[in-house]
Formats: sequence, C-alpha cells, structure tokens
Amino acid sequence: MSGPDTKAGRIAPPPLRDDCFALPAGVAWTPVEDALALLRDRLSAVTGTETLPLAQVLGRVLAEDVIAARSNPPLANSAVDGYGFAGAMPEGAHVLPLVPGRAAAGAPHAGTVAPGHAIRILTGAALPAGVDTVILQEDVNSDGRQIAFHGPLRAGANARAAGEDVQAGARALSAGRVLTPADLALLSAVGVARVAVRHRLRVAVLSTGDELVEPGAAAGPGQIHDANRPMLLAMAARFGFAPVDMGRAADDRAALRACLDAAADRADVILTSGGASAGDEDHVSALLTEAGAMQEWRIAMKPGRPLALGLWRGTPVFGLPGNPVAAMVCTLIFARPAMGLLAGAGWQAPPAFDVPADFEKRKKPGRREYLRARIRDGRAQVFASEGSGRISGLSWAEGLVEIGDGACHIRPGDPVRFLPFSGFGL
Ligand code: AMP
Ligand code: MG
Repeated sequence: MSGPDTKAGRIAPPPLRDDCFALPAGVAWTPVEDALALLRDRLSAVTGTETLPLAQVLGRVLAEDVIAARSNPPLANSAVDGYGFAGAMPEGAHVLPLVPGRAAAGAPHAGTVAPGHAIRILTGAALPAGVDTVILQEDVNSDGRQIAFHGPLRAGANARAAGEDVQAGARALSAGRVLTPADLALLSAVGVARVAVRHRLRVAVLSTGDELVEPGAAAGPGQIHDANRPMLLAMAARFGFAPVDMGRAADDRAALRACLDAAADRADVILTSGGASAGDEDHVSALLTEAGAMQEWRIAMKPGRPLALGLWRGTPVFGLPGNPVAAMVCTLIFARPAMGLLAGAGWQAPPAFDVPADFEKRKKPGRREYLRARIRDGRAQVFASEGSGRISGLSWAEGLVEIGDGACHIRPGDPVRFLPFSGFGL
C-alpha cells in the first residue's frame, strides 16, 4: 500500500486510533507475548512514500512490491569459459570442428553454430544460435581448429537459462522489505533503477529527570549524566530510523508538555525515558493520563518497570523506564517491533537460537526475564549482576538470554535462548 509521491510535504496514512494501546481490563500483569500481540494488532504504517534512485535507498522500507522489468539473466548464457555446441554428448571420446570467431560477455556471436560443430565461448556470453551446452575449457584439448574431449555431458551443462533467476514480470521484492546491499544488486539486475520507499520513521528521543545533566557537563552532588538519550538516539539510527534529539526535560509538567508538543511536531513516534511510573515526579505518565490517551502497561517482565504508552496529539509515545538497562531492553523487545510497524516494515521478530548455558539460574514463575549475555566458546555467559542500573553490563553484553515466563532451574549445559543484539539491528 502506498500513497502518491510527495515533493516537500509529508503525507501520512490515517492516524492511529485513540484506544490503540488499551489493555484488557482487570489484568494485573500482562505477559510479554500478550503485550506484543496487542502492539502487533493495533499499529500500522504512519509514514508517507517517495520514489528514489537505488543509490539512496539502502536501509529504507519498500512501499510497494517491485516487479522485474527484465529477466535475470536476460538471455541464456555460458556459466564457464569453454566451448559451446548443441545437445548432450554420450560417454566416450568426441572431436568437434570449431567454427571461426567466439562469443564473449557483451560481444555476442551473430551466426548460427551448425550441428556437430563447436564455438569458443566465455563466461557470461549469450549462447549463440545452435548452442545449448558448454564444456569447461579445462576438460578440452584444442589445436585452434577442433576440440577433443570425453563425454558424457548432459544437454544444457554449464549453461544458464534465460530468466532462471527471476522472470520479467515476476515480483522481485515485496512491500515492507528493508533494503539490503544484496537487494540493490537484485533490483539493478532486473532493470529497476528507482523504487517507491517510505520516509524514514522520525523517532524523537527525550530524557526526563531533574537529576540529569548533559554528558560532559559539570555534575553536582546527586546529578548524573544523561545516559539514555545518546543510547536511544543511536539505537533509532541503527534501526534505520531518523533520530530526532529533543534534549532533556526537567521534572516539571509545563516544560515536559512543551517538549512533547515539539516532539509531536517533528517526529512520527516519541521515546521518553524516566518518569513513566506513578510517582510524584513521574510526569510523563501524568501528562499522558491528562491527555486521556495513556495506558500503563504492567508487563510481567524483568527488567522493566511499567511502560507508559499513549498518544500525544496523535503521535505514539513510548514512556520507557528510566533505568538504562530497562530502557534498552524495553526498546528492543517492545518499541523496536512497534516502530517497525509504524515504519511500514511489518512486524519483525528478532532472530534467536538455542545455545548451552554457561551459568546457573533459578527463577520463579510469573514473568519473563532478559539477561545481558554473550557467547564465548559456543556457550552463553551472563553478566555477573542483574542490577538494572549496571550500564557496564549492557556494554559488556552482545545479546540477551530470554528466560520463559514459567519457573525454571537452568544448569550449565542446558539450552537457553540467545537473541544477539545484531539481530535487532544494533
Ligand atoms: P525514573 O523512571 O524517572 O524513576 O528513573 C529510574 C532511575 O533511572 C533513576 O535512578 C534515574 O536517575 C535513572 N535515570 C532516569 N533517566 C536516566 C537517564 N536518561 N540516564 C541515566 N539514568 C537515568
Ligand atoms: Mg525520574
């Protein structure tokens, strides 16, 4: 689905529904899977489209299916350097006279090769009329006038059929695809030089808290440097979105309101961190509640305090926990797939695989846990501390170990589920 191209202005699909973050009533702690299913059902693309040349679309989301303008390969051609002729060759010795000339990539042979004759042919050359089979030059003796070789050789050996990769008129790529370097090769090969892509999702990032000062600024007693904002802006960039730095807001309702207003003007989605619980200084949740479009998501997960989800003047807000570890994990598990939908890329579950644990852990039922982890010697190590303020553990980790909602006792060697950060695009 796509809209017409835009010049300067952005066009946007219809707004999200006011109740898009509503949770079922009466549920105390929402399981992670239920929360994900809700997001998946309720969110849809909010970005408009534009048509751009291939040089500008790496990492962008395709807005429409792309149909091959040309077959790949366009003509039947040789897969090797060798000699071409017609048909299969039975077992035994063969001698074929060579016709004059040759067929090379970009320099096809115009004539027809008569039955029982062969022609010199190079890799990528279109098969001349009368040729459907090629023998590798290493398997041939030639004196320049004829070639000698041993069969058997099946008809069509070492030849590529026209359109064997992609047929003209077939769908080469589907809407929602996040374009990779290989996709640019495919699009080029099938004769497509410009594609309709979605505008990059603009992701506003805002930190809240009176205790925060800029990284590098003088920090008084009780003050800390804002660690979440640089992280979340960088994550948005790695996800392929356009980060929009909205700075910091103090624990002051008017200041935060102005900041959210500005963010809603400049971005398609807003990530805040801090102030998302129900305390006196938790102004993100208070403002979203006041706006009438706030849902406190109490998700049965560690790390993670309540998430405040809402719409601020029609723009979705993810009110992330202030703790950097919880902020990062909640962004990876919830905000990223949700933003994938908003960006038009569909729902992307991160790749995960089972590896033996290099640790022991006991856990009670009732919530899912994500541990900072990395793989060494084929086993998953976890960070020594589960404290959610331990930023060094985030930096140490190369992924997360996901431990299911039920009770468990994991012993060294037991399989655990590992989600590499690279699978999230980090
Ligand atoms: P809050 O969710 O506002 O109650 O914050 C929870 C914890 O996270 C507190 O210890 C905050 O100081 C800390 N915190 C909040 N925002 C940030 C941030 N941007 N960078 C580092 N720590 C933060
Ligand atoms: Mg705070």
